[in-house]
Amino acid sequence: MKRILYYLKPYIGHLIAAALLVSLSTFCDLLLPTIMSDILNNGLKQGGEFSYILQSCIQMLAVAAVSLGCILLGTKLSTKVVANFCADLRADVFRKVNTLSVEEFSKLGTGALVTRSTHDVGTVSWVASMLCGTVATIPMLFIGGLVLSMRKDVPLSVLFLVTIPLLLVTVFYLSKRVRPLWKESDLYIDKQNSIMRERLRGIRVIRAFHSEPHEHARIADATHVMARYIIKSNVTAGLITPLAMLLLNLSILVVVYLGGWRMVNSANAVSAGDIFAIIQYITMVMSGIIMASFAFVMYPHAVVASDRIGEVLTAEGTADPTKGKTMTLSGDIRFENVSFSYGGAENALDNISLHIKPGQKVSIIGGTGSGKSTLISLLLGFRAPTQGDILLDGVSIGELSKFTLRKCMSSVLQGSAIYTGTIGENIRMGKEDATEAEISEAMQISQLAEFVAGSADGLSHEITQAGKNLSGGQKQRLSIARAVIKEAPIYIFDDSFSALDFLTEANLRTALNQKIAGKTQIVVTQRITSAISADCIFVMDHGRLIDFGKHEQLLSRCKIYQEIFASQTGGGVK
Ligand code: ADP
Ligand code: MG
Repeated sequence: MKRILYYLKPYIGHLIAAALLVSLSTFCDLLLPTIMSDILNNGLKQGGEFSYILQSCIQMLAVAAVSLGCILLGTKLSTKVVANFCADLRADVFRKVNTLSVEEFSKLGTGALVTRSTHDVGTVSWVASMLCGTVATIPMLFIGGLVLSMRKDVPLSVLFLVTIPLLLVTVFYLSKRVRPLWKESDLYIDKQNSIMRERLRGIRVIRAFHSEPHEHARIADATHVMARYIIKSNVTAGLITPLAMLLLNLSILVVVYLGGWRMVNSANAVSAGDIFAIIQYITMVMSGIIMASFAFVMYPHAVVASDRIGEVLTAEGTADPTKGKTMTLSGDIRFENVSFSYGGAENALDNISLHIKPGQKVSIIGGTGSGKSTLISLLLGFRAPTQGDILLDGVSIGELSKFTLRKCMSSVLQGSAIYTGTIGENIRMGKEDATEAEISEAMQISQLAEFVAGSADGLSHEITQAGKNLSGGQKQRLSIARAVIKEAPIYIFDDSFSALDFLTEANLRTALNQKIAGKTQIVVTQRITSAISADCIFVMDHGRLIDFGKHEQLLSRCKIYQEIFASQTGGGVK
């Protein structure tokens, strides 16, 4: 919470001004019953004077006008502060999410990250706006109300010191009980969000396999549990209003009864106007507390929300991209006894040692789950080896700055990430200042030119979220164009040709080899035809590097390679 309050620091001047203005407005409101009781006591007494009543009415109007002016200005200021606070916080959460390491990202989960930057920031800002508005009036209401009613009658005002603390204790007790319930229900918001995301993404599969009833049951389970907690916390928090109203009405009853008794039994001790004013004060103070109680009740919710936001903000994140050695690399890659585990019983990579020389064209082949993408993710520095080391030009990648690492590799990752925007914008992600000619060359190489020429708006063709309006092959070709436009000593293609037909792949590879001749090239694949022409093929199985060499060598001695070959060619052509 402290960390989140820190975001209010730049606006402290505005906040104090807003608090002063709303307090001043409250003070003006408190003056009204006093003036009104004076009208009752003096103006209306024994016929009274009309001029006195008129003068008091003008006074009341003036006070009300000042109150209105102050509350308008105060609210404007506090709204501005809360809006800025919210924007700063959201921007920082977003910035932090961008720097999270792959491990931190998967630990928190996308669903939770979405709720943290939307729902949680919303809750915190709602409570902040209540704190700047209603809650800021409470001290003035209580002290002002007590002093002004004491001026009317001290014995009756003692009631203030009984009922108000009683109400505050009730509010405090109920909000304490609500806190764990909010915490539980928020957990389910994350869960529900994750299920919903998964469901929407896989809606076609769900329909194709007719698993709607199962999915409905899954989401209904999460919703029911969440609803139970929300109902319980709202019922508990909702008790405040009836309890406060009960206290308020009992207090009014006591004031009327005791006031009446004192009026009758000790002459001139208290007047009808005084009783009227005290009732007004008690009502005003208690209504203020009831309004503020919403903030008190929501406060634990905001504490939970800010703890969750804090979890993101305090995550270690990836290192500063400029930290570490900055150098120009030639494309020499060495894995030394590298092992990696995702935390499961079995290592995803087991004692891998390999050497790829600058300018070499290599392939990594192996069945699904053999650890190919994990190896690439380690090479790209997304994850760190559990054991062993990866060296680029003899320097451990842990010592290199992320800036150097990103600069020396251009990659197409498995699953081709495409972004909302035009085709041109997606390609320019590889090279911001790419010229038209460079873009056109990249499209020629990736065999995308024909598709772009065929679309009416060419490079400006809009791509919808995650490339939903492209086929798998078009997405792969676009990702390849984005990678080849970037100049780097190392090019990595992880399962990037799988959705292309053989002829397109052959044309693409020929053009690609010409463009990046002399650069290190790593092609990860399951297809033997994609690997066959490599200078060196690394064969992986169950996280281990089984063998490496040229196609002919492997075909003559590596059993797994022979099996892959036989399964894809029917044991035929060599
Ligand atoms: P390949 O690319 O060869 O198909 P991967 O490198 O993706 O294989 O996966 C290797 C192994 O690591 C598999 O057993 C897979 O289940 C596991 N794995 C991959 N990604 C993760 C992850 N994010 N968390 C846990 N296990 C993973
Ligand atoms: Mg893979």
